[in-house]
Amino acid sequence: MPPLLERLRTNLAGVRAQIERAAGRARRDPADITLVAVTKYAPDEAVRGLVSLGLCDLGEARPQQLEARRSLAPDVRWHLIGHLQRNKVRPVLPIASLIHSVDSLKLLERIGQIAGELGQASRVLLEVNVAGEASKDGFPLDELRAQWANCLAVPNVEIRGLMTMAPLADDPESARPVFRGLRQLRDDLRTAAVSLPDLSMGMSGDFEIAIEEGATLVRIGSALFEGLEKT
Ligand SMILES: *Cc1c(COP(=O)(O)O)cnc(C)c1O
Repeated sequence: MPPLLERLRTNLAGVRAQIERAAGRARRDPADITLVAVTKYAPDEAVRGLVSLGLCDLGEARPQQLEARRSLAPDVRWHLIGHLQRNKVRPVLPIASLIHSVDSLKLLERIGQIAGELGQASRVLLEVNVAGEASKDGFPLDELRAQWANCLAVPNVEIRGLMTMAPLADDPESARPVFRGLRQLRDDLRTAAVSLPDLSMGMSGDFEIAIEEGATLVRIGSALFEGLEKT
């Protein structure tokens, strides 16, 4: 096996083992947790390598990159995880199987409008700025509560759940209240008709904590690509 693939395989096995351990601690089924490999820093060969190792969910942060990368792996599910401007919605919708980063009612309405024109229903997560950081995108907690009825009224979108990013920190434990807050919000908003099954939370530094707190999608980049420059 080429060194790049060997390295990816080792990293992937490590990440999967961590996912299983965290799921075990939380008495959850690891099959309920989807690993979204974030390829934004990875070379094209590494993207192909991940697909050959069986990954079927890949994520990009930028719409242009999503479009460029899609042809490398047309048969996987592509996730858009980064900020989306309203004027970039149209090219993204046919490609993204899930948009994690819907951070305003206006963007959600734009997605609904274009999805209607394309004859599709787009699956989305609403991004929440749980920690209230000024530098971060996302609905402030109380704004999402206030606008929830308006969000539900947008046609041609399926709101699958919520997404958040924890503040950068050395100690992953410091992310726990943020992840717990997202789950609490989801539990408050959900109803029998709108079950909000998905919580996208956890990155390389804090995904075990996120899984303990209920993540169903973890977005992992650097932990998968560690050591690649040496291959
Ligand atoms: C880059 C990125 C990730 C992955 O971060 P790593 O720390 O490299 O795992 C996850 N989510 C979002 C929104 C990102 O932009």
